[in-house]
Amino acid sequence: RTQETLLEVNNIEVIYNHVILVLKGVSLSVPKGGVTALLGGNGAGKTTTLKAISNLLHSERGEVTKGSILYRGERVQDLGPSDLVKKGVIQVMEGRHCFEHLTVEDNLLTGAYTRTDGKGAIAADLDMVYTYFPRLKERRKSQAGYTSGGEQQMTAIGRALMSRPETILLDEPSMGLAPQLVEQIFEIVKSVNENEGVTFLLAEQNTNVALRYAHYGYILESGRIVMDGPAAALRENPDVKEFYLGMA
Ligand code: ATP
Repeated sequence: RTQETLLEVNNIEVIYNHVILVLKGVSLSVPKGGVTALLGGNGAGKTTTLKAISNLLHSERGEVTKGSILYRGERVQDLGPSDLVKKGVIQVMEGRHCFEHLTVEDNLLTGAYTRTDGKGAIAADLDMVYTYFPRLKERRKSQAGYTSGGEQQMTAIGRALMSRPETILLDEPSMGLAPQLVEQIFEIVKSVNENEGVTFLLAEQNTNVALRYAHYGYILESGRIVMDGPAAALRENPDVKEFYLGMA
C-alpha cells in the first residue's frame, strides 16, 4: 500500500447558525488505498466532519470557520459538492437516502450521471456492483422504498460505486442494521477497497466492527480528536477497550 495522502483535514472549526461551535479543531489524514475510521458517540461531530469535507454544510447553516481541507494537495473547501464528485470524492449519507420511488437499478444508475464514458462502461459497472451485492441483482426491479434497511444501505453504497469514485465518505453504515448485516456490509467495503482500490473514510459509532475492518482510526469526542492510531493498536488500547469496546 502506498502512503500517498489523498485527503487532509487541518485543524478545522465548524460553527452552525453562526454560534454553535461543533468542531473545535479537527485534523485527520486519509491515505490512498486505506480504510480510515472516524469513531465517536452520538453527537461527537462525525457527520459534521464528513459534511464539512464534502461541502454539504451550507444547507444546514453550518460553516467551516477555521482550518483547511485539501484533496490531493488542493484546497477544496470552497468548491461545490458536485465539483468534489468530479474529483472522485463521493459521500454516502447516513440513513441510506435512496430515491424511494425508483427501482433499485434506477437508483444505481443515477450514480453514473456525471459520467461521460458511455453506456458500455456503465453497464459493466452495474455488473460490478451486482457482483459485490448479489442481493441487489435479485431486487433490481423492486421499488427502493419497499426494500429492507440493509438493501437500501447496499443500494446507497452501490450507487456511490457507480460514479467510479476514488474516495467514498461513508456515514454510519451500520446504523439500524442487524449485526449479521453490519458484518456483511463491512465485508463488502473491505473487498471493494482491496479489489477496486477505493479509499474509504467511514464514520461509525460501532467501534468494535469499525476497528476490525479499518486500517487506521480517529476518535472524536465533543468536536475534538482525542486519540488516533492504527486500528490494531486502538483495539488493544485500555481506554478504547473500556470506553468504546465495552470490555472494562
Ligand atoms: P450522530 O451519530 O448522531 O450523527 P455525529 O457524531 O455524527 O452524531 P453530528 O451529527 O456531527 O454528530 O453532530 C454534532 C453536534 O452538532 C451535535 O451536538 C448536534 O446537535 C450539532 N448539530 C448537528 N447539525 C446541526 C445543525 N444543523 N444545527 C445546529 N447544530 C447541529
